[in-house]
Amino acid sequence: MTTELTPTERAAQFRFTFPENDSSFIVIDAFDKGSYIKIIPEEKKIIGYTTRNSGGVTKDFKNFFVLLIDKPFDLAYTWKGKDLDRNSLEMKADHSGAIIGFKTKKGEKIGVKVASSFISHEQAEISLARELGKDDFETTRSKAKAAWNKQLSRLKVEGGSVEQVKTFYSCLYRTIQFPQKHYEIDGSGKIHHYSPYNGKTLPGYLFAGTGFWDTFRALYPFLNLVYPSINKEMQEGLINAYKEGGFLPEWSSPGFRNIMVGNNSASVVSDAYIKGLRGYDINILYEALLKGANNEGPMTAVGRKGVEYYNELGYVPYDVKINENAARTLEYAYDDFAIYQLGKALGRPKSETDLYAKRAMNYKNLFDKESNLMRGKNKDGKFQAPFNPLKWGDAFTEGNSWHYSWSVFHDIEGLKELMGGNKEFVRMLDSVFIMPPVFDDSYYGGVIHEIREMQVMNMGQYAHGNQPIQHMLYLYNYAGQPWKSQYWVRRVMDQLYKPTPDGYCGDEDNGQTSAWYVFSAMGFYPVCPATDQYVFGTPLFKKLTVSLENGKKLVINAPSNSERNLYVQKISMNNKPVNRNWIGHQEILKGATLQVDMGAAPAKGRGTTPAAFPYSFSTDKAAK
Ligand code: CA
Repeated sequence: MTTELTPTERAAQFRFTFPENDSSFIVIDAFDKGSYIKIIPEEKKIIGYTTRNSGGVTKDFKNFFVLLIDKPFDLAYTWKGKDLDRNSLEMKADHSGAIIGFKTKKGEKIGVKVASSFISHEQAEISLARELGKDDFETTRSKAKAAWNKQLSRLKVEGGSVEQVKTFYSCLYRTIQFPQKHYEIDGSGKIHHYSPYNGKTLPGYLFAGTGFWDTFRALYPFLNLVYPSINKEMQEGLINAYKEGGFLPEWSSPGFRNIMVGNNSASVVSDAYIKGLRGYDINILYEALLKGANNEGPMTAVGRKGVEYYNELGYVPYDVKINENAARTLEYAYDDFAIYQLGKALGRPKSETDLYAKRAMNYKNLFDKESNLMRGKNKDGKFQAPFNPLKWGDAFTEGNSWHYSWSVFHDIEGLKELMGGNKEFVRMLDSVFIMPPVFDDSYYGGVIHEIREMQVMNMGQYAHGNQPIQHMLYLYNYAGQPWKSQYWVRRVMDQLYKPTPDGYCGDEDNGQTSAWYVFSAMGFYPVCPATDQYVFGTPLFKKLTVSLENGKKLVINAPSNSERNLYVQKISMNNKPVNRNWIGHQEILKGATLQVDMGAAPAKGRGTTPAAFPYSFSTDKAAK
């Protein structure tokens, strides 16, 4: 038998090719943990639902489905568990299913159209009719191909190897799979959704399947640059999530999930608005950010666990039984910066924005001069002891102090000062790669896959397979040594991403690790979302063209680019020299052609003056 499958957004077509047989079957499995199925032979239809889920839904959750088969059945049975029921066309059980059977000729094809819905059987049938209609398999297949091509061709690369082109588009494909549309379209064309927050069917958008802890870093900034209209729908979805759940989600799959730490919805909301998205109720989202920033949520990963300590002491203490407290503090401080930025953009009162500006500096409370790194701190103001900067977990989240000490996205200048100035900062950055990939896994009681990936990648303590350190390569730009960013970014692109089954360096994590690659291949990266800046790295292709939604183009020309010529010598934009280590979002939106001269040796004069450095909060005159 050959089985083929082709998708639409909420439906799919199967094509089964059978041998000559008087007893060919299709088995439909509605899953265990509570399911229902009904065969309607006169309509060549099967409907059912499964209640199976992995959490993040309300008690009455159902995933409804409908199947239309294009050949009359010679037999139809239901089953539950291991028992066949030859007498009933309907079954409700812990684990139910159906079997339909046919006589088939050699090479006979049987088509099955299927659609699902979180709302109802009726909605599943509406989606099936809307998305598949009378289309045959080949039509759906060509429509799916055209739909993907339309999105993927927004970025066009030229002058790379076949391997690089495959890797690039594979990464772009994975990036834009997240988050997923959780909403459905009713019979009159209106958008509505099953709410995983309160179980109701309600009007409007909802998206799910994203963890902001990962995706605030590069995936949402990428949407804001290339696909802003869909992120506008996502922002509307967040408004609905807030109305229905009382808090913004931090990890939605599909509802609230108790995964990871931080309050990074602040970054997702703020970055969208600062990058220019409009046409939705930003004020209610701002209200949601303030609520999330000042309250514990229904679970530790929603709102801010330890918020009273954080607001009073300026950090979440190590010794008050709140896990991953240093990671929480660092992320809350950045999130406060994101709230400050949005508050300022919305013209909120100075007394309010000042509070978040002050809290944005809370990262300083965890800086330990002795190790020159971030370290957990007890309630009494003393640092945690003992302290092993190579210990994964504990005060940090799926990483160690060497991975987390850079999580000061908004104020690298301030971090540099704490570490002892430019030279010492660069020495600390270099140390990440010089140290061997040793680790302390005692917190987890064994090697977690993120640790193993760091060892296998063999770049010292650099752990690209997990997210907290992914922006760190770009930080040399803040210290006047942009060529080191270029060297490491190119090495990571070349060595840690391959178009092979084992060619990926760790967790995809909702598209974030792919979004890192796509940005990096363009030649810049959003080190600090909720600002206007992208920090330069090194472009991967001789030419890359982005068709922006506003009709303008971003073109990155680097004709002398090669495996050897990985160092940026000179950049000009629209024929004017660019001596800084970053590019602005608004200047890209106006349409920009970057001409990048590449060479085999570092251009050690370029980008070395403080004026060339990217944004840091402590040197932001407008903030003072
Ligand atoms: Ca991860």
